[in-house]
Amino acid sequence: MNILDNFCSIHQEENNQIQFFCLNEEIPEELKSRLLCNYCLEDANKHRLILVSMHRLKNNNRIVSQWPPTFQDISQSILLPENLSKLKISYIEEYYENFKKQICEQLELQKKQDMMAISQMLDYEGILNKYNEISSFSQIQNIIEYNKNSPSTLEQQLNELIKQKYLDIDKNQLIIDSIFQNVTVMQEQELQFIQNDILQKIRSIQILQKSSTLNQIGSMVQSTFKESNKIKIKTSACKIQICPSQLLCGQVYSIKPIRQDKIYQFIIEFDKKPQNYICVGFEEEDHKNRHLGNQGRNSFIIGQVNSSFCSQLLKGNKNLQDLVTEQFVKYLVIEVKLNENKFYISDFPNRTSINCMNQTQYQFKANTDYYFTIQINNQDTQIHILSSKIIHQFTLE
Ligand SMILES: [Zn+2]
Repeated sequence: MNILDNFCSIHQEENNQIQFFCLNEEIPEELKSRLLCNYCLEDANKHRLILVSMHRLKNNNRIVSQWPPTFQDISQSILLPENLSKLKISYIEEYYENFKKQICEQLELQKKQDMMAISQMLDYEGILNKYNEISSFSQIQNIIEYNKNSPSTLEQQLNELIKQKYLDIDKNQLIIDSIFQNVTVMQEQELQFIQNDILQKIRSIQILQKSSTLNQIGSMVQSTFKESNKIKIKTSACKIQICPSQLLCGQVYSIKPIRQDKIYQFIIEFDKKPQNYICVGFEEEDHKNRHLGNQGRNSFIIGQVNSSFCSQLLKGNKNLQDLVTEQFVKYLVIEVKLNENKFYISDFPNRTSINCMNQTQYQFKANTDYYFTIQINNQDTQIHILSSKIIHQFTLE
C-alpha cells in the first residue's frame, strides 16, 4: 500500500492524510511519529520542525533547507534557487571576455613599445650620430686643420667654440634625453615579478569566490565597550560587513561562540590601511564586552608592532606585525583551534608571513565559550568577514 494513501493514526478528522516527514534529530513528544498530517503540524506549532513534504521526498526536485545536518546552514548556501537566480551568466561571460581583451591590448601595446625601444638601443650607430651632433668633435677637427699654421687664431677659435658649447647646455641635454628616453626596457627579473603579481591577483578571484559562501558564525553583534553602538553591522549570505560610522573605538563579536574541537578559518578584508590599530582574536564569554586582549593576549594587532599580540613569527622572513604596519595588506586569514590552543594568522592569499599566538602569554580555557572578536581603535576602517568556515586541517601550520 502506498504511504501517501495513509492517514494519520492520531488525528481522526478529515484531511488527515500523511503530508510531511519530520527530519528533527529528536521528534517532539506531541508527535509520536515522523509521518505527519496537517493537524500534527498544528499540534507542534511551538517546536522548530525540519520538514520535507512527502511529495518532495518522492520527487527529489528541490534542496531542503536545514537538511542534511551540516555545520553550515544550508539556507545561506548558494545552492538555494533564490541565490542561483541571482547569478548572471551573461555578465560573467562579458566580464572575462572584456578582461581578456583589455589585458591583451595592454600587453600588445607594451610589447610594441619595448620592441621599438630595444631596437633603438641596439642601434649604436644611431645613438652615435645623435651624440656627434652635439660633441662638435668634427668642428674642432676642422678648426685645427685650417689654422694649424696660425696658433693664436687656432687658440681663439677653439676657445670660442668651447664657450659656445657651454652656452648650449640645454640643447645638449635635450639630445642626450632623447637617447636615454628610449633606454627604458625593463630587466627580465622585473618583468617576471610583474607577471607573477598579476597572475597572483587573478588567482585570488578564485580563492575569494570559494571562500565567500561560507559563514559559520552567523553574524557579529555590538559589544557594550565604548562607542560600539555606532558600529553598523550588515550581514548578507556572502559576508559580514563591519562599518564604523565615524572615527571611533568599539568592539564587535560573533553572535555564536565557536566550537572548542574544530579548526575554524576566517578570511577578513580591510577597505584601507588602519589609521590606528585593529585587534582580531577570540574572547571568552565573560570578557567579550571589554577591551579585547585586556585579560590575556588572545588577539593579533594590526597597525602596531607590539610583542604582546601574536607577535611570534612561525613562517616567513618578516614578522606579520611589521608587514601589516609597513604596507596595506588587504586580506588576512586566521586559523584557530581552541582545545589545542592554536591561533595562526597570515596575509592572504600569499601567506608570506605567518604569526601565531604565544602560548606563554595566553591559553584558551576548556569548557569556556569563545567568540570571534574584533576591536577597532580610533578609526573608521571598514572590515569585511568574507568567510568563516570549519576546515579539516590547518593550512597555516
Ligand atoms: Zn496527525
